[in-house]
Amino acid sequence: MSGPGESATGSTTLDDLPLRADLRGRTPYGAPQLEVAVRLNTNENSYPLPEAVVEAIAKALHGELADLNRYPDRDALGLRAELADYLGHGLTAGHVWAANGSNEIQQQILQAFGGPGRTALGFGPAYSMHPLLALGTATRWVGALRDPDFGLSAAAAAAEIERHRPDVVFVCSPNNPTGTALAPATLAAVLDAAPGIVVVDEAYAEFARPGTPSALELLPGRPRLAVSRTMSKAFGFAGGRLGYLAAGPALVQAVQIVRLPYHLSSLTQAAARAALAHRGALLATVEAIKEQRDRFVATLRARGMTVADSDANFVLFRVPGGGDQQNVWRALLDRGVLVRDVGLPGWLRVTAGTPAETDAFLSALSAVEALS
Ligand code: PMP
Repeated sequence: MSGPGESATGSTTLDDLPLRADLRGRTPYGAPQLEVAVRLNTNENSYPLPEAVVEAIAKALHGELADLNRYPDRDALGLRAELADYLGHGLTAGHVWAANGSNEIQQQILQAFGGPGRTALGFGPAYSMHPLLALGTATRWVGALRDPDFGLSAAAAAAEIERHRPDVVFVCSPNNPTGTALAPATLAAVLDAAPGIVVVDEAYAEFARPGTPSALELLPGRPRLAVSRTMSKAFGFAGGRLGYLAAGPALVQAVQIVRLPYHLSSLTQAAARAALAHRGALLATVEAIKEQRDRFVATLRARGMTVADSDANFVLFRVPGGGDQQNVWRALLDRGVLVRDVGLPGWLRVTAGTPAETDAFLSALSAVEALS
């Protein structure tokens, strides 16, 4: 039924609705989902799941189907224990929380520790969802900046935190979209300076170059630290929507206050557990992807281009000839290669996928360069 003044086809616009003032004029997060041959724009894992894992997940899902009349395990204890086992570092189910993607994990952290009258701070350019999650939870966002070379010194990070005294600090390591992991001294300074919660977003941790420490090592004795992880990238499980955090047990209890009851469906839990049981097969793609990532960096640098160091499954590069990144983005798309314009003037981000995708990207880029 249409309301007064509305047609059945819906002439009401957002402006007609009593939307919160701080949401007016906003658009939803949305990287383009286009049907092109080479999709290297959302840092997915390009490798489809191996057949043995597909079968294991199908079997696990089948085992749940007759019980779909019942709610799932609200606490996802089995899955959390298995995630803790994967992470190691002596963690147990009580140190781990799981949700529908690490986006939901971070939203729950802000629901518990941010909110009206509270502040969250991050160092841009970083993951664009952090400020949007703050917006959605009515948390004031302070967008501090990384250095012009995308680094972040311990002194600069501590100074921003001391200035703003945020309730929640986000650091992303390896950082999306720049690719580099945070220097351990910077993370130590952030933890020392922060008066509240520190979220280290390690969505890309499995791709880090050797010798890059994880913030998991810093958890003992730091009850305000939360390390956010995901199965979307290294595990190739983006469609499964499974993110998680590791933290002290009290922080895990805090996010449970705000989680929706039964937020993680029994199908999600079963599929994720089957995927974790086959983690050897799934994570086997990580080395192959790192090779392509390093190939991007080496090849583009050999062509004289500026490329940020990467510990992730993507590479940020300055577009050839100092040109406009929007034009280059479009020209690559015209050649069937979708990359990401993250809104950094002069830069584009490309996901490392299969060798064939690297070939396609490099030849499309050569063709675009030849035009400029
Ligand atoms: N953190 C970072 C840094 C990301 O790049 C992404 C996805 N692009 C996420 C978190 C969210 O991933 P998901 O919700 O799929 O776990």
